[in-house]
Amino acid sequence: MNPEIDTGKPHSARVYDYWLGGKNNYEVDAAAGERFEQMWPGVRELVAANRAFMHRATRHLAREAGIRQFLDIGTGIPTEPNLHQVAQAEAPECRVVYADNDPIVLQYAQALLSSASEGRTAYLHADVTEPAALLASPEVRGTLDLDRPVALSLVALLHFVADDEAAYGIVRELMEPLPSGSHLVLSHGTSDTAEPDKAEQAAHFYRSNVSDGQARSHEAVLAFFDGLELLEPGLVPVTRWRPDGQGPQIPDHRALIHAGVARKP
Ligand code: SAH
Repeated sequence: MNPEIDTGKPHSARVYDYWLGGKNNYEVDAAAGERFEQMWPGVRELVAANRAFMHRATRHLAREAGIRQFLDIGTGIPTEPNLHQVAQAEAPECRVVYADNDPIVLQYAQALLSSASEGRTAYLHADVTEPAALLASPEVRGTLDLDRPVALSLVALLHFVADDEAAYGIVRELMEPLPSGSHLVLSHGTSDTAEPDKAEQAAHFYRSNVSDGQARSHEAVLAFFDGLELLEPGLVPVTRWRPDGQGPQIPDHRALIHAGVARKP
């Protein structure tokens, strides 16, 4: 049985969809999205830039790093191009497992299963705070070969895990079984901005009305990459990770999301 969709209160996946200009959100989500936007104008460009980072990182890994397997947790409501479409445009044999814990993502997950015939995709309704169960799932085991490199993508996800110990533990547990040559793709809401009071006001509204979580400093986000080799240009404002001129431009001090990609040695 599918878990029920609660339209009485805003959900992070649906508010994100609202900011992206998607149609799979409800009045409560739009209202929360607009209130946040009043406090932090430019949030729509920010989520579009975050999405564009996911595209660039995925393309880089498939094209330059030879990655053919992806595990994308906190996938969000399907938005074209989805990760498998970006990866399979480079190499149609790519295999992708998607996971999210929001019932609305499950409802629309069919759109994530449109794999090229040479590759494969799977969708898993799961919570990132239970990494062992996620890794042991038939969707992961039946789709990915964990003896070969995997790109783990946690894009705009870990700021929803408020507890530091839990958040760092999740990344360690997910990366641990992956072989050398695997990668971590990560973007994260940051508290390092030139307008900390405004950012905190918006974050407070979000925590109280949409979802618990925590923005982290540049240093604290960097710690997710401990033990890994950070690719150039390091952990940077989301628009600055290997820009290709396609995504929106955001001044650094307004880029509330930092992003980076690292390789497991
Ligand atoms: N990665 C996508 C979507 C980001 S929105 C992108 O960057 O475009 C964040 C997503 O994380 C939402 O879909 C939300 O449902 C999901 N999420 C939040 N907490 C989660 C958890 N504990 N486990 C799994 N998914 C979670």
